[in-house]
Amino acid sequence: MQAAHSLVPDTSSSLLSGAFSNLLPAHFAAGPGEAFGSLPAGLQFTFAIVFGLVIGSFLNVVVHRLPIMLERAWRLEVSEATDEPLEEDGLPMRYNLWVPRSACPHCGHVLRAWENVPVLSYLLLRGRCSACKAHVSLRYPVVEVASAALAAAALALFGPTLAALAAFGLCAALLAMSIIDMDTHLLPDSMTLPLLWAGIIVNFNSVFASLHDAVLGAIFGYLVLWAVHWLVRGIDGMGYGDFKLLAALGAWLGWAALPQIVLVAAVAGAVVGLAATWRGRMRFEEPLPFGPFLAAGGALTLFLGTPLYLALGG
Ligand SMILES: [Zn+2]
Repeated sequence: MQAAHSLVPDTSSSLLSGAFSNLLPAHFAAGPGEAFGSLPAGLQFTFAIVFGLVIGSFLNVVVHRLPIMLERAWRLEVSEATDEPLEEDGLPMRYNLWVPRSACPHCGHVLRAWENVPVLSYLLLRGRCSACKAHVSLRYPVVEVASAALAAAALALFGPTLAALAAFGLCAALLAMSIIDMDTHLLPDSMTLPLLWAGIIVNFNSVFASLHDAVLGAIFGYLVLWAVHWLVRGIDGMGYGDFKLLAALGAWLGWAALPQIVLVAAVAGAVVGLAATWRGRMRFEEPLPFGPFLAAGGALTLFLGTPLYLALGG
């Protein structure tokens, strides 16, 4: 089968992208990418890694605070609907991704600027709060390093282009959503739906797939898992958030990428699930969040294309 998932921008493929080419540069990747591209490669990668670390630090804030913000909004709705007073949760009234400033969850010590440097602060403080010496989760530096690695990978694969920036944006969103799904077994609409729209917009100029394939990808991505969910009863780990996440991946990578993403996710999910059960870390009935596996399948397809089809097709 011819993989419709193309990494090479094809501006001639549709009427719409033709119309938009008057507004945007003919090649989506041209423009600011050219100035950045004139820098030496070493400098480009240094910049990508620092940028990835900073975004990773922000992702740590998102995965910690977004579920709390969503639960708050939900409790406010319940209290308004039932006229019951809102319970105190011990957090300040204004609580979002920007305020209050980051603080130690054990003693409330507000982090000073030098204590908030990605990875370095963790190493300098040897993974402890400077005030109360409580352990800081290893997850913070791991997320920051993962984000930096994804930024470098996007630059290596797509070159100094806006396509690389978009690819890293997709990876960062997938990383954050995977952690939120592992923590809460939820994939927030406030992340999956903007990611879907972003995929459609990025592909106006056929960056990762033609606009046609992107729209079909969004539709089939949702419908495939929805159908599986209703036909095969008793798949507990999967929910509506997963349908929306696969729709978003379809919008980014095109419909032809979907079978590979689902296959990779299903096999990886089965292996991890069995391994966890076997090691006694989990009971068999316990649902495993499916989002991280879909995200992994999506990231793999973004970076490698669809080699599975070649392998299966002979
Ligand atoms: Zn502390």
